[in-house]
Amino acid sequence: MAESEQHRTGPDGRRGRPLLRVAVIGAGMAGILAAIKLQDRGIECDVFEKGDSVGGTWRENTYPGLACDVSAHWYTYTFARNPEWDSLMAEGKDIRAYFERVARDFGVLERTRFNSEVTQLRYREGAWDLKCADGHEGRYDFVIAATGVLHHVNVPRFEGIETFEGAVFHSARWDHGVALDGKRIGVIGTGSTAAQLASALVPRAERFDLFQRTAQWVLPRDNVPYSEEEKARFREDPEALEQLIAELRAKTLEGYATAVIDADSPELAAIARICHENLETVKDPELRRKLTPDYRVGCKRLVISSTFYDAIQQPNAELVTSPIQRIEPEGVRTADGVLHDLDVLVLATGFLVDRFIRPTRVIGRDGIDLDEVWADGPLAYLSMSVADFPNFFLLNGPNSPVGNFSLVEVAQHQIEYIMQLVEGICRGDYSEVSATPGAMRRFEAERCEAARKTIWVTGCDSWYLDKNGVPASWTFSYDRFVDETAAPRMEDFEVR
Ligand code: NAP
Repeated sequence: MAESEQHRTGPDGRRGRPLLRVAVIGAGMAGILAAIKLQDRGIECDVFEKGDSVGGTWRENTYPGLACDVSAHWYTYTFARNPEWDSLMAEGKDIRAYFERVARDFGVLERTRFNSEVTQLRYREGAWDLKCADGHEGRYDFVIAATGVLHHVNVPRFEGIETFEGAVFHSARWDHGVALDGKRIGVIGTGSTAAQLASALVPRAERFDLFQRTAQWVLPRDNVPYSEEEKARFREDPEALEQLIAELRAKTLEGYATAVIDADSPELAAIARICHENLETVKDPELRRKLTPDYRVGCKRLVISSTFYDAIQQPNAELVTSPIQRIEPEGVRTADGVLHDLDVLVLATGFLVDRFIRPTRVIGRDGIDLDEVWADGPLAYLSMSVADFPNFFLLNGPNSPVGNFSLVEVAQHQIEYIMQLVEGICRGDYSEVSATPGAMRRFEAERCEAARKTIWVTGCDSWYLDKNGVPASWTFSYDRFVDETAAPRMEDFEVR
């Protein structure tokens, strides 16, 4: 029997619709996860990846000092723990190797079409027509968008940037052909990326200039190494590893996750105290003043680093706070008239965070364009489903939890939720499922209401805020996220 004619039979003996075919867009952390979970249930899937290898953000970011400031053991799939992490927080290259290994071991590579950028998805007569830039076309019953959040680079238009005679690139487009040792290096930005770059590059550069527009709060955290004995114990005793992960998780969730959604919480006050004390370790009062933010701790994503302040206090490092006026052939000219001569200029200027699956054109039921639905900002019920886009779900989508915690765990909760909706199709309960417009509106209204208590709206600009100044994030408790994603409330879904 041809695959397309095969039928599933539900547990109650009812005959379901033909075997599902699912398209997963993106082979980063979330796409690999989706493919594995679909395979587990015997569901066919094709993974579309526009790059030439898996790993998503860990493939694209290769800058010196790249690491994950979330504890490595927590930043792993529950079904593929990794006793071999060398330290509390892992280096980027090790995280990339982990995702590559999982993708290989779980057969995801065979299902992935590399160098295949999906340009269009159109819902027609109960299924999605998919088109790729390379001309490939397919038809799928279900689509999972796993395209990441921090993916589209933000390259500000600095006047004269094209005249710069040195090397210039965005931190997520690192040019490894460019020499760094003994060079004059400038970095624009003071986010998590810039802090890691400073720690890695100050010791290598002749001179290091950090161009700061806004100071950042820095939470110190030592990157404790794991001994060979500890690794052996984690290998031999998975329970001990799970215990460690539970502790790491609880510590972050009870502290940070509670802190950010309640600007008046004691948890936030405790974190703020640590950040203020950390700042006091900067010896030069003038430098300390320049490094002092004019907004509350936690308003922007915390920079987690025990090395940044040390790096920026080195004699060859300078914190430049005069605004950038223009880029000239020799370097960066600031508003105070100073020309900062540079060989290398790195734009650690972050990402366009409201893109999600776009620029892929997604056309839902009755010709509705996702771009129009999202004209005022991306929305999705529980961050996963959009009304009138049946059988189309997002992982780490709009307003999903983001912050200093494990996006791997977030994606795992979401995929289990989505799989329950997929199983409804497999059982033949329905053939189309998407959030109702009412559920989407209600969720968004509640989310915006909850946002008013968060630390993110207390007077700073950050990538957490959308163009209307509303946090584009999960503004409820993390417990609520876990509860809401445990099982779909079917009254919030339109099924056909
Ligand atoms: P970011 O936090 O968005 O920081 C961008 C920086 O560039 C900011 O300091 C910003 O200044 C500055 N900037 C942007 N446009 C500018 C302009 N026109 N002129 C001057 N300065 C400009 O970006 P990121 O550091 O790449 O981090 C993004 C996110 O990636 C993080 O928040 C985090 O979620 C993730 N990340 C995680 C890790 C990790 O260890 N887990 C590491 C790196 C990144 P303003 O503050 O004034 O806007």
